[in-house]
Amino acid sequence: MAPKDAKKKGWSPGFGTKGTMSTYFQYPTPELQDELKKIAQGLTAPGKGILAADESTGTMGKRLQDIGVENTEENRRKYRQLLFSSDPSLSENISGVILFHETLYQKADDGTPLVQLLEQRGIIPGIKVDKGVVPLFGSEDECTTQGLDDLAQRCAQYKKDGCHFAKWRCVLKIGRFTPSYQAIMENANVLARYASICQSQRIVPIVEPEVLPDGEHDLDRAQKVTEVVLAAVYKALSDHHVYLEGTLLKPNMVTPGQSYTKSTYTPQDIGRATVTALLRTVPAAVPGVCFLSGGQCEEEATVNLNQINSVPLKKPWTLTFSYGRALQATVLKEWGGKPENVLNAQIALIKRAKANGQASQGQYVAGSVAGSGADKTLFVANHAY
Ligand code: 13P
Repeated sequence: MAPKDAKKKGWSPGFGTKGTMSTYFQYPTPELQDELKKIAQGLTAPGKGILAADESTGTMGKRLQDIGVENTEENRRKYRQLLFSSDPSLSENISGVILFHETLYQKADDGTPLVQLLEQRGIIPGIKVDKGVVPLFGSEDECTTQGLDDLAQRCAQYKKDGCHFAKWRCVLKIGRFTPSYQAIMENANVLARYASICQSQRIVPIVEPEVLPDGEHDLDRAQKVTEVVLAAVYKALSDHHVYLEGTLLKPNMVTPGQSYTKSTYTPQDIGRATVTALLRTVPAAVPGVCFLSGGQCEEEATVNLNQINSVPLKKPWTLTFSYGRALQATVLKEWGGKPENVLNAQIALIKRAKANGQASQGQYVAGSVAGSGADKTLFVANHAY
């Protein structure tokens, strides 16, 4: 139904009247647009990227177990304190950190809230707001992500508590018959709804539709699936009137399946496939694309990002990193839960962040930053939940 004062408001009958497609809506206020745009620009400042330190309690437990440290709240606090109390030069290459809810309310040994350590360094705090991946009943082991119900209230509180951006991860799987239409549409829609709610609360949404690397498929198949998924995501964002200049995309790089063995692809092939997929689907209004590392080893993730920034194709967005595993593998190994190793672990973090900062500008020289965990594969099979 057209509103009573529709004519006065400049509304004209069209698609909207037939209930097929709504083009009647309001853009966010100029103030809100400005605020969101500035946050997104800060996160994608030249030579900078994001540290994803938002591992859930269970995932963090696995990382700690690998280095023989017990998964207690205190040990998780000590580890995040290590990350955030690094030398302030960390902020030369890290623009923002994604936190897990628990971390946002933890304090350093001297009582300073951990989030303040980031603020003191000029690093923008962000927060993971999804409540995890759940199965799509009746599908071929596909999934969606939950957490919309109280999202507006949680975002309002997180904004008050210092977070200016958020992350929501959806997962898609490549198989013979997947991703299905059901999974593509459901995940695109839930990401759009999440993004819209975040913006209503002055929070920049990072939109993360992760196509998992599991499978025997080649590079072309990974590229096509990524294109189809991203096209659906941007259609849904448009349908939900999401203000693109105030968003960031966090996609997978386009890589061959983990079990693909028929030939080898070079970082140049991966860079070209990735940028081509983005060019075909991601509007130029989006300020930045910050890739997840998805189980690549540290050095591989840096080299591939460097290639992505080096391919001779149009690149209307900033192309940078938002790595979890590929920024923390060496750090965890160096730390090993021992207080006397904290400084060395922090140095490893700064070195890896710098390498990725260079890669985000196409200036990284392969092999120039070594690390004790740099060549270790970080792949986790079926990393959905
Ligand atoms: P990885 O870089 O370890 O893939 O994690 C990034 C992330 O935040 C996934 O949601």
